Amino acid sequence: MPKPKMTFVERLYLPEISKGLALTSRHFFRNLWHHSLASLGLESRDRAMVTIAYPEVRRPYPLVARSRHRLTKREDGSPKCVACMMCATACPADCIFIEAEEHPDPAIEKRPRHFDIDMSKCVYCGFCVEACPEDAIRMDTGSFELAYFDRKGLVYDKEFLLNDDPHAVPAHAEPLSRGN
Ligand code: SF4
Ligand code: SF4
Repeated sequence: MPKPKMTFVERLYLPEISKGLALTSRHFFRNLWHHSLASLGLESRDRAMVTIAYPEVRRPYPLVARSRHRLTKREDGSPKCVACMMCATACPADCIFIEAEEHPDPAIEKRPRHFDIDMSKCVYCGFCVEACPEDAIRMDTGSFELAYFDRKGLVYDKEFLLNDDPHAVPAHAEPLSRGN
C-alpha cells in the first residue's frame, strides 16, 4: 500500500504537534474536572475516564463472552471427557488434538490420555462446546489473557484445561505478567 503523502501543513510538524498536545490536554483537563466533581460527590465517577492498574486490577468481563476453555470434572476430579472426538471433528480450525485411552471404569468406554488445544489457531467459535455430548468442555473461565513469551504457551494441555482458575498460566509457558 503506498504511503499517504503529507500535506504542506503536516510537513511543517509544529501544527500537528500542537494538535496532539491540544488533544492530550483536553483529555487531561476533562478528566481532572470530572474526577474532582466525583470526589466532591457532585457527579458519578462514570463520566471520567478510568485507568485500570492492570494487571493488579482487572476489569470483569460479561459471562456471555466466550473465554479460555476448560475441561469439566467428575466428582473424583477426573475429566468428564469420554474422548469421543466430537469437539475435534467440529472444530473448524483443526486445533484440538485428543489421544484416547481405555477408562479403568468399565461403565465408561474411554478417557483422554492427551487433550491439547492449540490456541494460536483457535477462532473462539464455540463449536467444540456445542458439539460435546457430555458437557465436558466449556468456554467460561472468564480468562482472555493469551500472552506468553513464546508460542509453546499457547498450546493448552489436559492438566491446564482442568484448571478453571482464570489467572492460571500453563506450566510450560512464561507469562508476560504474573500479577493477579
Ligand atoms: S472454539 Fe472453535 S476453533 Fe476454538 S477449539 Fe473450539 S471449535 Fe476449535
Ligand atoms: S470434550 Fe466432549 S466432545 Fe470433546 S472428546 Fe471430550 S466428550 Fe467428546
